[in-house]
Amino acid sequence: MKIKLRIIVLGLVSLFLASCSNDSAEQSTAEVLENNKTYEWTMVTTWPKNFPGVGMAPENFSKMVDEMSNGRLKIKVYGSGELVQAFGVFDAVSLGTYQAGHGASYYWTGKVKSSQFFTAVPFGLTAQEMNGWIHYGGGKELWEEAYEPFNLIPFAGGNTGVQMAGWFKKEINSLEDIEGTKMRIPGVAGEVFTRAGGETVQLAGSDIFLALQQGVVDAAEWIGPYNDLTFGFHQVADFYYYPGWHEPGATLEIIINKDAYIELPSDLRAIVKYAARAVNQDMLDEYTANSYRALEELVEKHDIELRRLPEDVLIELRKISEDYMQEFIKGDEMATKIYNSYSKYREEVVNYHRISEKAYIEARELE
Ligand code: CA
Repeated sequence: MKIKLRIIVLGLVSLFLASCSNDSAEQSTAEVLENNKTYEWTMVTTWPKNFPGVGMAPENFSKMVDEMSNGRLKIKVYGSGELVQAFGVFDAVSLGTYQAGHGASYYWTGKVKSSQFFTAVPFGLTAQEMNGWIHYGGGKELWEEAYEPFNLIPFAGGNTGVQMAGWFKKEINSLEDIEGTKMRIPGVAGEVFTRAGGETVQLAGSDIFLALQQGVVDAAEWIGPYNDLTFGFHQVADFYYYPGWHEPGATLEIIINKDAYIELPSDLRAIVKYAARAVNQDMLDEYTANSYRALEELVEKHDIELRRLPEDVLIELRKISEDYMQEFIKGDEMATKIYNSYSKYREEVVNYHRISEKAYIEARELE
């Protein structure tokens, strides 16, 4: 009797083990199949193809993903106008026509007002501060919430650092000199410039040169020395003003269609996430190492006039910016929620940076 029971128990145990090993065999076959499956994505961007910095960030992202996934996720990158125009990127990825996009979120303020905060706000956060807010200050979660209705997952995808105030064909010595100045300056900053007495013109990056040359505008901002040198603005304007009050740490974005993202196995999803994080830092490093070299070339070789905006102009622009942001968020629940998070963080981080980054940079200059 005892022996018989033992046989039955042994039989059950081996049956159980057999079924277990069958399961794991099936699972590993599925895993092997999934691990061998390759995915091909298209990434549309708002930048000229292979443009230094901004245009190279999506190329580098694609390269990193390819390397880390051992070729299982291929992302083909297109410049603006190749498949869709720059300002069509958000819709194309939202609708799933293409799986991924690279651009600057503030291009979409007409659709998603709060997107302004994820690129730059006049007199707002620097690159280092932005990265802190997005990744450790609740910014990323708010960004995801804002893009949720559009079936998009956003990631920070690069940063230019502090930009330049722009190219001017005439000197700016006081607020009166802003009066009537026609300037290419986008978004919220453009509105601030208009309120300071200027006239704002909206132009894509590739149209700036001709507009300056033909006098359609008297001034234009693009990015900073690294990119401005490539476009050759020094050939059509003499005065190069700083600091970039309007874009103190412009963050770029990678957007992924949510359905395409969910379809990926978990390791590829992780690769997309961490490649975005890597390229976000990588682009800032590229600008840090190249901006001063380009500025040296502009000053020494091309003899441009490097000028600081007068203090009264900067103070007035800051006051107008603060008032205008209140007006900008009014009546928009998501924008108000993000503004509150952004402003609280800005106040706290600026208090700390006053005695850390700023104090150190000043100490380094003491004589
Ligand atoms: Ca700019």
